[in-house]
Amino acid sequence: MGQIGKNGYDVLLALSRTIPGFIGSVGSFQYEGKTYRLVDNFAASQYMKCGVCGNYPIFDVSVIRSEDGERLNVGNGCVDRITNQNVSIWFKTYRKKRENIIENRKCIDGLSSVLAAYEQNDFKISSEDVEKLRKTLVQMCNGLDPRTKQKQLAECYISYRAEPIRDQQKELKRKIEV
Ligand SMILES: [Zn+2]
Repeated sequence: MGQIGKNGYDVLLALSRTIPGFIGSVGSFQYEGKTYRLVDNFAASQYMKCGVCGNYPIFDVSVIRSEDGERLNVGNGCVDRITNQNVSIWFKTYRKKRENIIENRKCIDGLSSVLAAYEQNDFKISSEDVEKLRKTLVQMCNGLDPRTKQKQLAECYISYRAEPIRDQQKELKRKIEV
């Protein structure tokens, strides 16, 4: 299982590495007699205007650059139209995945270490639950939001596994105090 041992940070990094590949795959396209390429896409933090249709404000901004270095900030509808590809949907999906991973970060870290402990025979889990937990981890690593039931099972194992450690620490503390 490639997801075990990964933490939320690794997963975010892997996701962000899909951007250059996608941008490259869009390739070059023609606009007003010039050849352009997509160079960036970001969520606007200030009001911006589409350099193609003049729509204002645009919230998702694609940056395109021509061979002679002219840069244009372009809104969703226009970038999809002039590239003739679903650029805006790809970045919308990307941002949603990123949001989900950030939200599930603790659960990814916890579940990953629960399953690593299981694989090292350090922690007992029924084979039925192992399958469920693995599936949940893969889903979360892929940027999907698991169902409530899946999340509850994961959180149950994560807190259950943390329990003995807490007890050990208490035990240790008691020994030190004595
Ligand atoms: Zn536009």
